[in-house]
Amino acid sequence: MNQYMVEAGTLYVVATPIGNLLDITQRAIEVLAQVDVVACEDTRHSARLLQHFSISNRTISLHDHNERQRQEQISNWLKEGQSVALVSDAGTPLISDPGFHLVRHCRQQNLNVVPVPGACAAIAALCVAGLPTDRFTFEGFLPSKQGARLSVLEALKDEPRTMVFYDAPRRIIDTVEDIISAMGEDRYVVIAREITKTFETIHDATASELLAWLQQDANQEKGELVLMIEGKTAVIDDIPPIAKKTLNLLLKEMKPKKACAVTAEIFGLKKNDLYALTLAEKQD
Ligand code: SAM
Repeated sequence: MNQYMVEAGTLYVVATPIGNLLDITQRAIEVLAQVDVVACEDTRHSARLLQHFSISNRTISLHDHNERQRQEQISNWLKEGQSVALVSDAGTPLISDPGFHLVRHCRQQNLNVVPVPGACAAIAALCVAGLPTDRFTFEGFLPSKQGARLSVLEALKDEPRTMVFYDAPRRIIDTVEDIISAMGEDRYVVIAREITKTFETIHDATASELLAWLQQDANQEKGELVLMIEGKTAVIDDIPPIAKKTLNLLLKEMKPKKACAVTAEIFGLKKNDLYALTLAEKQD
């Protein structure tokens, strides 16, 4: 007997592994095997996944270019009582992947939409980065063109929450250079590359240290990666009260740049963080 029975007339949004196939959930396997049809971002790619789990089910394509047409077809099937699973090439559908239009269309028609949660690169990366996770912002892919990328990063330079991006490793050196231009060389950055795969690498450093590290190892420009940038307020919040008090005393005696440099030297802090603190306190 099956551990889980799919319901008629339901769209299942099913997460699949982002590398290690052991990360599929038992419920995902049941749903993919039992639904009437599996809508895949790339049918050939998902066929390999289904085959691995000995699932031979009907598949159709649903990608950025046909999603609007497919949403009509799929919602009609759901109304007839059929069940459909939506998968993307890897991870959670809709997260920088197709599916938003379909899910919205189905919900607008009061059709049953059920999540089957599992792997998501952004969440997997965030939970090992050591950056604040109480609040974060997911920014999807950074633009590939340098001017647009720099504008996005400049607009985010005062963002207080941890920022999570998807980026192509072949662009990572250019991206980190842009982070330095937009947010300063001392901003803390974490990259999570090849999560759950053989060459999984999680590396945290200031933007300038990260740049030097990347430039020394061409392997870091391969595979897939998630980039995370520490938010601005979080950095300020971490400054110990004694350092803040010292900085305020020094600010009465010398220029802010010098006061920040001296305080940074005494407490082993980053002068840019202290400078950000003086600006924030001025605004208050
Ligand atoms: N929907 C997927 C999810 O839930 O993570 C993301 C799809 S998006 C098209 C693909 C991007 O996710 C990659 O370019 C990379 O930034 C990130 N990604 C996917 N798998 C990854 C992995 N194993 N390690 C690091 N990043 C990964």
